[in-house]
Amino acid sequence: MSSTPFSFRVDARDPLCRARSGAIHTPHGEVPTPAFCPVGTAGSVRAMTPWDVKAAGASMVLANTYHLALRPGEALIEKAGGVHRFMGWDGPILTDSGGFQVFSLKDRFVSDEGVRFRTPDGEIFVLTPERAVEIQEALGSDIAMILDECVGHPCEWSEARAAVERTTRWAERALAAHRRRGQVLFGIVQGSVYPDLRERAAEQIVALDFPGYAIGGVSVGEGFELLRDVVGLTAELLPEDRPRYVMGVGLPEDLLACIERGADLFDCVIPTRFGRGGTLFTRRGAIRIRHRRYRSDLYPIDRGCSCAVCGRFSRAYLHHLFEAHELLGPILATYHNVAFYQDLMAGARAAIVEGRLPQFGERFLAEYRRGGESATRTEIEPPARRERTEKPRPPRRAGRRDGPRDGVPQAPGKATDRRPSKPASDTHRNSRNVPGRRPPR
Ligand SMILES: [Zn+2]
Repeated sequence: MSSTPFSFRVDARDPLCRARSGAIHTPHGEVPTPAFCPVGTAGSVRAMTPWDVKAAGASMVLANTYHLALRPGEALIEKAGGVHRFMGWDGPILTDSGGFQVFSLKDRFVSDEGVRFRTPDGEIFVLTPERAVEIQEALGSDIAMILDECVGHPCEWSEARAAVERTTRWAERALAAHRRRGQVLFGIVQGSVYPDLRERAAEQIVALDFPGYAIGGVSVGEGFELLRDVVGLTAELLPEDRPRYVMGVGLPEDLLACIERGADLFDCVIPTRFGRGGTLFTRRGAIRIRHRRYRSDLYPIDRGCSCAVCGRFSRAYLHHLFEAHELLGPILATYHNVAFYQDLMAGARAAIVEGRLPQFGERFLAEYRRGGESATRTEIEPPARRERTEKPRPPRRAGRRDGPRDGVPQAPGKATDRRPSKPASDTHRNSRNVPGRRPPR
């Protein structure tokens, strides 16, 4: 444990854009920024051991308050010595408040008190700003998030405005409830795609003086242009000396655009979920390793990648593993994807220090979009950017013999591994966790 439980420092600013690099210091270690957190929804980054997560270059992981509270329950995790010890990860952990997940549920009732909803088990659960803090304090994460009201996209101005006001009231209550030393609580700025509401939300939340701020309500199906604009606008409204966390983003091009606009921290399920489904990121675009063209391709996944998987295995071997439904397929694919994202972040950090982030981004994207090696971007499942949390497995009911097997590659379209295909209007924060549920209106 360190004497300074939490701090954030900016070491370098890119003169050509708003990007900065630095580090978030937590009681469990430093997180060099800009940083990408792999998502460990249920206290596990799927298909990865904690030592692999570390070896792949990640410094902080995200765990999910809502899912851990439902199963196994925060009391057990607290008894086990906290979420770090429980999941065997001694690095920094960020927990989200559960708000993002809860707003995806159909049977939910939102009031000033909080959100009342039915769990997948059929029980009534009430998540209030105080309860979200209480759970995260019991988990003992390094960074906790306030409960916020996240609206989907598109969203009427009046509805977005009401969510901003409610989020501010909840933020005040969360701050008042938060006691745990060694853990910090971040505020969340909502406001949908409306600049005036983003300004209003930022003003109110910043006035509460949080040690860090998240830009919430993005990656809900608004598309790349709006995401970029909203993040750019909101980041400018946030204090220079606090970390800015863009929740639920995203694809490599999203990350680069947000970093250029001053974002420091990200989380997303894309590298892990895509990996399990057989979509691998390379410097020349993403590839679907199950495609027959890789059947006898003896090159590594990505010739520019120095990860343990690329140093040892060929595409043909990965293709074979996926075809044979071997567990090792998703494991190796996930490892490479997480390492790829971490490499991208390390490249961005170095470029910021050298004052050439825009050129770095352009060069990366030119190569990435060229897809010359073997694949094009169109190979990626289109609604990808909409996901933020790994889909939970439904709690096992009495009498149910066996659930879906973790880590086993699922055939395309199976609800356990892929988002259901949905119309573009579906929101992402709200679609993510409960298959087939509609966004709130
Ligand atoms: Zn690799």
